[in-house]
Amino acid sequence: MSKFDFSPMPDADGYFGEYGGQLIPPELKTVMDEINTAYEEIRQMPEFQQELTDLFADYVGRPSPIFYARRLSDQLGGARIFLKREDLNHTGAHKINHCLGEALLAKYMGKTKVIAETGAGQHGVALATACALVGIPCEIHMGQVDIEKEHPNVVKMRILGCKLVSVTRGTATLKDAVDSAFEEYLKDPKNFIYAIGSVVGPHPFPKMVRDFQSIIGNEARKQFEQREGKLPDYVTACVGGGSNAIGMFTAFLDDEDVSLVGVEPAGYGLDTDKHSATMTLGKPGEIHGMKCYVLEQEDGTPMPVHSIASGLDYPGVGPQHSYLKDLGRVQYDTATDDECLNAFMTLSRVEGIIPALESSHAVAWAIRTAPTLTREQTILVNLSGRGDKDADYVAQKLGL
Ligand SMILES: *Cc1c(COP(=O)(O)O)cnc(C)c1O
Repeated sequence: MSKFDFSPMPDADGYFGEYGGQLIPPELKTVMDEINTAYEEIRQMPEFQQELTDLFADYVGRPSPIFYARRLSDQLGGARIFLKREDLNHTGAHKINHCLGEALLAKYMGKTKVIAETGAGQHGVALATACALVGIPCEIHMGQVDIEKEHPNVVKMRILGCKLVSVTRGTATLKDAVDSAFEEYLKDPKNFIYAIGSVVGPHPFPKMVRDFQSIIGNEARKQFEQREGKLPDYVTACVGGGSNAIGMFTAFLDDEDVSLVGVEPAGYGLDTDKHSATMTLGKPGEIHGMKCYVLEQEDGTPMPVHSIASGLDYPGVGPQHSYLKDLGRVQYDTATDDECLNAFMTLSRVEGIIPALESSHAVAWAIRTAPTLTREQTILVNLSGRGDKDADYVAQKLGL
């Protein structure tokens, strides 16, 4: 079995149970099926596997280590907390894992341009990085409002040589950037490829992005067992679209004694309308070409969502997460903005690790849960990214 091949899901039509699929016009379905065929071909090719394995090692810096957060664990009492250090990857987060995969796939398919949207710029920077490395043109659409807010990522994308398209229509934020990028893609879907930034969208993206990210859990399961002689009792990760979480969980799905917990943003609180807790408060629906849990308004349009972590404010979620929730294999819990800020500061001051605000949601869950467990029990947290990008915002927010 190949190193990145672990699961028979989804079925041939891209369904995880009732979720997923290709809820798109027939012309696009043809193009998505071509991508799927190409992906299934190249994933079997030893040259592709080898190229990805080498890049993960020599470019990304994999394997990322597991770190025992001793001071944090001692302070909290209860379970011991371990961190999977995806924050140490080149570009500072897990996104590079699937961006490299997507860029390589685009090259193998002879695509002439990689297109994507970006909100805070994290996906844009990771994709621009991968495209620079692979040598393929890259075009990123970003709302003008976000361009003004996210200056460091904007200049990084320009330095990396991607074409940055400023989107001024509508509210000039993420949703408008998606529309604009998608229009550009539809001009020539045969020659362009739309690189989706998480385990969402039409089949085969939820499967492909999961496969590329599954390196996280494959490494972590081995590393943890080697050092502790057993598997962790709890494995936790934050959930936006769900790519870092599914990348971590996949290796543990068959380990019934390992509890898996995805943490969604409760924002200002679940009783307000400022949150992004899609699986906790949403219901099955449709968004961006797939069936999944969705947060909707009365009229059926997606709810404007909120999280202190811009990487987590998405009103849908990966179809495989939706399926795993219904199965009961993964529990989905939440953390508020305040808990997240507290976790951000605590990890920084107790361990000298500044986590991304996204990752801080999973850290917050561990901080809340560890004291309710025993010293013999363990929690493995996927630290999906580093917090340099959030430092100015947090300092301003807390008056530091
Ligand atoms: C983008 C991002 C996320 C959210 O995306 P998922 O697909 O849910 O993993 C989480 N953490 C970091 C550091 C990110 O940049």
